[in-house]
Amino acid sequence: MTEERTGDPLGTHRSLEPRGALPQPAWRLDNEMSECFTTEILVDVRVLNVDAASFRQMEEASGGEPGGVERAILATVRERGKQHNPVTGSGGMLLGRVARVGSAVRDRGVKEGDAVATLASLSLTPLRIDRILEVRPASAQVAVEGQAILFQSAPFARMPDDMPERLALALLDVAGAAPQVARRVRPGDRVLVLGAGGKSGLLCCAEARRCGATVLGVESHGPYAQELRGLGLCEAVIEADARDPLAIRDALAAHGGEVDVAFSCVNVDGAEMAAIVATRQRGSVYFFAMSTSFPRAALGAEGIGKDVELFIGNGFAEGHAEHTLNLAREPGPLRELLHRRYA
Ligand code: NAP
Repeated sequence: MTEERTGDPLGTHRSLEPRGALPQPAWRLDNEMSECFTTEILVDVRVLNVDAASFRQMEEASGGEPGGVERAILATVRERGKQHNPVTGSGGMLLGRVARVGSAVRDRGVKEGDAVATLASLSLTPLRIDRILEVRPASAQVAVEGQAILFQSAPFARMPDDMPERLALALLDVAGAAPQVARRVRPGDRVLVLGAGGKSGLLCCAEARRCGATVLGVESHGPYAQELRGLGLCEAVIEADARDPLAIRDALAAHGGEVDVAFSCVNVDGAEMAAIVATRQRGSVYFFAMSTSFPRAALGAEGIGKDVELFIGNGFAEGHAEHTLNLAREPGPLRELLHRRYA
């Protein structure tokens, strides 16, 4: 082990291309873990929770070939020193145990051996993978042996001890979604959720309902639409393709028309206009989906004269981890479904 060197709280000391850049936009990071820096927490990684849009892109690009996602992950990490999907630009997060704590981060409340989940994206987390043990497509989780670095400025969560680890990891991956719903939705609002049957979609529907809204869900995957109906959170669950804005508009017409707030939680690109078309003038659209295109949304809204507020989904919100874990802890059918699907 080498002597500890001074690191930057934001992690710029790890950026190789371009040198000194912030680690998220950097093309390549230094993932040599024998180097110790004062501002770093070294983590022995056990599970990667790959971002849903990224996982789906890798599945599609490999044509569903066995081992395709595994090869794509290994190639990305080899080339970039991080799991930063070059096509979707997104990452995910990880679960592991603290292996070393730098001298400048001893006040962060973790010690060697603690189980932690990173709440900073894998797209900025230096990562070395020694071995992939298992790829689990249903949850986009990948069991690995390897190591990663958590920078001084990066949020993380201790793993809760009252729920299965895989479920907690799945929830923490999308922890930013439900708190944003709570900030934006008022009692009596009509709310649309695209991709409503997926992980973040379910949480958004539950939070919107808790805020006193009428919730309409759009989900293209039949079994997920059916499970969502069974929760009783939505006034209607529309089984449709969110990339077809006119179909969504027409389907909504049968359920009261435009909504006050729309949340996009799909894992595919091309759903921007459905959310915008479905929202009333001066309403708001929150794009949690990483597959969202800024120009498509901004220029698309302008092009159809839609004066709606467009929000980019920030993965971080103060207290988001506890907020989301508490939502999933509430007894009832949502909790049961989350356990069944993700635990
Ligand atoms: P997820 O569990 O895969 O849910 C996405 C849902 O959308 C799935 O049920 C999916 O069905 C459905 N869907 C796919 N294509 C659709 C279409 N054309 N029309 C309607 N529904 C469709 O994903 P997640 O983990 O909740 O993540 C959702 C999005 O949030 C992703 O884009 C992810 O990148 C993003 N994300 C953002 C942040 C952030 O910080 N902003 C953090 C984490 C994740 P299938 O089962 O058929 O795929």
